[in-house]
Amino acid sequence: MTTPDTSTPKSPLTLSCHCGGITLTVPHAPSVLNECHCTICFAYGALWGYYHPARGEAVTISESDGCNLQSYYRTDGDMTGALAFQRCSRCGCVVAWQRKDPTQGSGKMGVNFRIMGEKVEAVNKVVTHK
Ligand SMILES: [Zn+2]
Repeated sequence: MTTPDTSTPKSPLTLSCHCGGITLTVPHAPSVLNECHCTICFAYGALWGYYHPARGEAVTISESDGCNLQSYYRTDGDMTGALAFQRCSRCGCVVAWQRKDPTQGSGKMGVNFRIMGEKVEAVNKVVTHK
């Protein structure tokens, strides 16, 4: 059992997709990373860190070099298009998911830390599989 390091102040972290066109800045490293086993996340091979923008955990997503965020709205099951899975228009890396309407549901969003490559192990080694 590994205890997350809480001795250092929380500082922002910047991640980018493979081609670098999309960058994401999160307020702090996630305390836990989750390898979600739902059908779509498993297919993406995503490793999510979760944030609550409405509770002061703003995540900034920037587009550059002609890249833009494309969204796939999940409509299977009871999802009814409420969840957007977002990817880079150039390299195709899935970088985040968020609610189409952020005021609905828990207000949680996910950032795909898998895009960091193996450097993710320095950020956090606590991985859940829910
Ligand atoms: Zn890209």
